[in-house]
Amino acid sequence: MSEVKPVSQKLPDYGTLTDEITIFAGPCSVESEAQFNEVAECIASLGLHWIRGGAFKPRTNPHSFQGLGEEALQIMKAGGDKYGLKTLTEVMDSEHCEMVHSYVDGLQVGARNFQNFSLLKNISKVTKDSHKMVLFKRGFAGTIAEWLAATDYITMAGNDNVVLCERGLRTFETATRFTLDISAVPVIHKQSLYPICVDVSHPAGVRDLVPALARAAVAVGADSIMIEVHPNPPAALSDGPQQLTPAQFTDLITELRELAAVFGKKIV
Ligand code: PEP
Ligand code: MN
Repeated sequence: MSEVKPVSQKLPDYGTLTDEITIFAGPCSVESEAQFNEVAECIASLGLHWIRGGAFKPRTNPHSFQGLGEEALQIMKAGGDKYGLKTLTEVMDSEHCEMVHSYVDGLQVGARNFQNFSLLKNISKVTKDSHKMVLFKRGFAGTIAEWLAATDYITMAGNDNVVLCERGLRTFETATRFTLDISAVPVIHKQSLYPICVDVSHPAGVRDLVPALARAAVAVGADSIMIEVHPNPPAALSDGPQQLTPAQFTDLITELRELAAVFGKKIV
């Protein structure tokens, strides 16, 4: 046991202390049924279980693509059912919690809502009985202590099914989009009982850095890895430069499976 007292002492019912590394892959934004289903088909063909996709997008600029909203959720539900995949999407606003919860299997809290406590409390309420997974991203200027404290807002109504997600910090460095705090993985394991995901796409910002960060995530002991995949990244409506094609993603999963085996783990 670590000397630092975990904020939450409860064991989540998802993922941790297992020999599996769960992949949360999919497009940054859900753009159309054809786009989403092409990625879903690839993910399912690799024997993976989850697909991610943005329906409500937290864009820096209000003139950028904001997401298809409920239409995206319908596409995700239908595509998830068709390909036998669980679905994960970001909920940005308190007023959307129930609607988003009714369509998907997992709710994501984005980095920009890390300390939006009213949103966290609403997510806690809507997942109270369903115990749907909540993937909680670290804010890009948030400490680990603040992250674990905020997690208690999500679990307070009774759902412990939280996955923490490190997605990179804002630092002085500009060579990458964000600075991936890989040390967060062992620190979270030491200080909490929650599984930890490493988002390797948003800190990279460009696709050629993604495989190296994904290898690092496996080696450091991540419980899950988030990777953005798009059928045609140059045409993507958000985050084109960092998204992998299905072929690149397939090669990466093949490579990660070999690496995971070294650690006695399986990629699922
Ligand atoms: C995303 O996962 O699409 C996203 C917007 O991530 P973040 O909140 O980490 O920027
Ligand atoms: Mn993105």
